Amino acid sequence: MFKMFLIKYAEIAIKGKNRFLFEDALIERIEHALTAVDGTFQVTKESGRIYVTCEGEYDYDEVIEALSKVFGIVGICPVVHLEDQGFDRLAEEVISYLGWMYPGRTATFKVITRRIKKSYPMESMEVSAALGERILQAYPNLTVDVHHPQIEIHVEIRKTIYLYSETVPGPGGMPVGTNGSATLLLSGGIDSPVAGYMIAKRGVKIDAVYFHAPPYTSERAKQKVVDLAGILSRYTGPISLKVVNFTDIQLYIYEKCPHDELTIIMRRYMMRIAQRFAQENGSLGLVTGESIGQVASQTMQSLAATNEVCTMPVYRPLIGFDKEEIVTVAKKINTYETSILPFEDCCTIFVAKHPVTKPNRNAIRRSEMKLEEKIDELVEEAIRTAETIEVSKETAY
Ligand code: ATP
Ligand code: MG
Repeated sequence: MFKMFLIKYAEIAIKGKNRFLFEDALIERIEHALTAVDGTFQVTKESGRIYVTCEGEYDYDEVIEALSKVFGIVGICPVVHLEDQGFDRLAEEVISYLGWMYPGRTATFKVITRRIKKSYPMESMEVSAALGERILQAYPNLTVDVHHPQIEIHVEIRKTIYLYSETVPGPGGMPVGTNGSATLLLSGGIDSPVAGYMIAKRGVKIDAVYFHAPPYTSERAKQKVVDLAGILSRYTGPISLKVVNFTDIQLYIYEKCPHDELTIIMRRYMMRIAQRFAQENGSLGLVTGESIGQVASQTMQSLAATNEVCTMPVYRPLIGFDKEEIVTVAKKINTYETSILPFEDCCTIFVAKHPVTKPNRNAIRRSEMKLEEKIDELVEEAIRTAETIEVSKETAY
């Protein structure tokens, strides 16, 4: 029945001159999302609207599923496409459409007509009124409410006629790629994938860095992160994931520094290394899954100590979230089940029993001086030997 979808987008429509850039980016993201769905689809822009036209057979649910992951889409309206064969014929089509969509339903409705084809013999108000009358005759359970109708029946008269009344919600946000790019520190936990989702939702393209510590962390822990990146890429598009071997750096910090400062110092080296990759790939910032007070390394003092080594902005989209709120998003975007698989990540091996919660930055700097002899070399080695995995929705999961 539906050979077409009308794509509604809000935020991007208000961007003035940039509107066209945003629309074109949205079209590109939609086309990319639909490459995973069997069928032939045309994505077109027509007088400020975007349409997806389906040629031949396709799976309705798969299309909706793919489109509902494209940031920038506010609503997806399945459209019935009709030839213009006169008003009587249109009225019949509307009646049969309603019978099919809302069998036996008691509800209020309103007809909203847009007449783009000015040569159509009736004005839009006339069309709405006349259709309303026919609907009332055909379905005694339907009544008119022009202010708060339960069903809005949209009729758009163009060369052909578009009819729709349902809107499947989209994810909102802005099309990925319209707001620069950032590098996500992606661990196997619950938080960082959600942070990546949230920043991408604002139109930011993401690449990622994962630190592992073989043999203290397993191949399966790494695979879990690749899988998480794969799930994320359904929303964000392809992600270039750097896998950094952090073992020697961790062992060296463990050997030289006070154990209650291990986590903070390790986090500082993660940030330093991530920033190097970020500079290489043109990122405008780093992204982490930190939220204030969640653990010892995320107190305001610890965050300040971690932040100190970064010259690039560090974005923390979850900063004010409670764990429960993060979990809710993780479940919604399907990363939760993978995140809770029990493979250790590199931090848990080297954590102290009583980590500092209010690190003194001077003390931390002094401890780091004990690393002077070898640390630069180890950092360069870690960067040089990092593995790059190109993750896309096709390659993972
Ligand atoms: P998450 O659930 O995202 O792992 P967390 O609550 O376990 O977060 P931490 O382990 O303190 O918190 O990590 C804070 C942030 O640092 C993470 O959200 C992530 O962005 C980054 N991070 C931590 N460990 C790693 C790692 N092994 N590789 C890459 N980034 C990491
Ligand atoms: Mg973690």
